[in-house]
Amino acid sequence: MAEQPSLDEEARARGRQLALQARRRRAQIKRDLADGGSVREVIALRDVDPAVARMRARELVEACPGIGPARATRLLADCHVAESRRLRGLGEHQVAALIAALEGGGAGRGRLLVLSGPSGVGKSSVVARLRALRPELIFSVSATTRPPREGEVDGAHYRFVDRATFESMIARGQLLEWAEFAGHLYGTPAAPVDEALAAGTDVLLEIELHGARQVRDSAAGALRVFLAPPSWEVLVERLQGRRTESEDVIERRLETARVELAAEPEFDHTVVNDSVDEAAAAVLDLLDRAAPLAAP
Ligand code: 5GP
Repeated sequence: MAEQPSLDEEARARGRQLALQARRRRAQIKRDLADGGSVREVIALRDVDPAVARMRARELVEACPGIGPARATRLLADCHVAESRRLRGLGEHQVAALIAALEGGGAGRGRLLVLSGPSGVGKSSVVARLRALRPELIFSVSATTRPPREGEVDGAHYRFVDRATFESMIARGQLLEWAEFAGHLYGTPAAPVDEALAAGTDVLLEIELHGARQVRDSAAGALRVFLAPPSWEVLVERLQGRRTESEDVIERRLETARVELAAEPEFDHTVVNDSVDEAAAAVLDLLDRAAPLAAP
């Protein structure tokens, strides 16, 4: 006859079974949240369901649709909830803050970051650094009628289109904003931006002044950052140093840059591009403090 398991073993086996049940229960709750279940109702269960009581706040936040690890970290920090806090340990204010952040108006919506500034200020370098530092940030690929520069890839740097195609995009209302710059048309296709924001992903637009103004009018709550040169002389040097354009194109860009520099006060924040690394870090810092875009 097989030996009877000792009481200790029985207790351990029972413990393992309970832990397994709790894990299954939490997995089920996470699936419900991912399907749009109510955060408020899940948190309320902590008083009656030990598996929910032991669930970490971070697990709850990450289970909500459109919230990745970076966003979860920011959201928990904004709600003053420690990463390791379990639901049973949340205070009243923390519960209210989490519910507001996850279910209130902007729940699940990403932030729209608009980076603007005069031609030659180094927007593209700062954008490249931002994308390296924050790979989950979606970069909006603009449509343009400008011919590609050497090394530019269609669909990655820009969508290069002819004027007729661009005009039909305007006519169909497919652009979030558009403007003419130095003789060419540039615009932001609206659909990819809307989709990314709805999925809770932050989106970056690198656009010129007139476009930034349109975004201010159409997407209240967008974070608009002006990238400024350390000085006018530095800007001139940078524009002249870019040997990809003819003299008159550079002259036109300098003229536009003068006008663009004067628009700095219209923006929410100014970041001086002294060093690309520092400027990118400063922009990310502003983004992390910004609230999600309100639902349309
Ligand atoms: P570039 O020809 O040097 O790539 O860009 C010229 C200017 O157009 C830059 O200031 C750039 O930020 C801006 N730009 C690029 N894409 C867009 C866009 O989709 N909309 C607007 N309004 N400006 C854009």
